[in-house]
Amino acid sequence: MHVVDLRSDTVTKPSAAMRAFMMEAEVGDDGYGEDPSVAELERRVGDLVGFEAGLFVASGTMGNQVALRSLTQPGDPVIVAARAHLLQFEAGASAKNAGIQLLSVEDSRGYPDPNQVRDLVRQYRRIHNPVRLIAVENTHMPSGGVPIGSEAMASLVEAADGTPIYIDGARLWNASVALGAEPAVLCRGAVAVSTCLSKGLAAPMGSVISGSAEFIQRARVERARLGGRLRQAGLMAAGGIFALEHHRPRLAEDHRRAQLLASRIRTQLSPTVADIPEVFTNIVLVAVENPDRSVQALAERGVLCNVLPAGQLRLVTHADLDDEAIELAASRIVASL
Ligand SMILES: *Cc1c(COP(=O)(O)O)cnc(C)c1O
Repeated sequence: MHVVDLRSDTVTKPSAAMRAFMMEAEVGDDGYGEDPSVAELERRVGDLVGFEAGLFVASGTMGNQVALRSLTQPGDPVIVAARAHLLQFEAGASAKNAGIQLLSVEDSRGYPDPNQVRDLVRQYRRIHNPVRLIAVENTHMPSGGVPIGSEAMASLVEAADGTPIYIDGARLWNASVALGAEPAVLCRGAVAVSTCLSKGLAAPMGSVISGSAEFIQRARVERARLGGRLRQAGLMAAGGIFALEHHRPRLAEDHRRAQLLASRIRTQLSPTVADIPEVFTNIVLVAVENPDRSVQALAERGVLCNVLPAGQLRLVTHADLDDEAIELAASRIVASL
């Protein structure tokens, strides 16, 4: 049976062209700052997101943790969206690695509610324990991959009243394509951003955090403290360079296929059976009566997907799917739910 894997955009495998490019990468010991491919990747990402320096890290989670450790002190309050990756999907890493206190706020529009942000910033100043950082996830996965535009960012900057903003931009590339906005425009008002190479861009591994040279200097130390100092990492960084060049423009295909999948299911199943909220990027959420049973039934028919903490099915489109795979998945989903 041909299995259609919609669990995540991380399941892609490097193409033959990407592998060939990686094999040719110039490398060196990045622990000594001597890997030209890593340096090139960090520079290219920095140019795209509008920051002067960057740091290649093993994963999106490591990017978040290194950034938090570099931008906060233990005990600091940090505001996050209630359903943020930082809060829900990192096994409590922020508490263990950075010792910070997360303050979660309402995120139905995909970003921390600015009114709640403004209130919390004021409250914590009054008690002399100021909020140290505000984290924004762009796109915001649990609300259906909502891209956060520059107007929303501007309203957060205003509410933050000088408190620094960090962007967990694992899917910032998707946001940029969906909004038709340069990544750097979406990062305006933030002090740092983490972007992922192994999600929609389909490289085998890695994220890059970007910010000021001074921030990256601290981040380099924090990365070492987490055991993330890399050596001939240029082999992997080259996958990222290839992905930025060849796979970034094709994210629009993933978004089109997510719309296709949603519309096939919507036209054949009533919302009482499968309720699909608006699709913004490459993520399709489906509210069903019994999500755990549905995941099982779908797996038996050769469609793999995940269940979010709130109980919706999550279907993610990615580079290893074509229209045929989407049609196949849609027909199996309709037959199973
Ligand atoms: C996937 C993801 C991460 C973590 O990336 P890993 O490489 O899986 O550690 C962090 N933040 C967001 C928003 C993500 O989607």
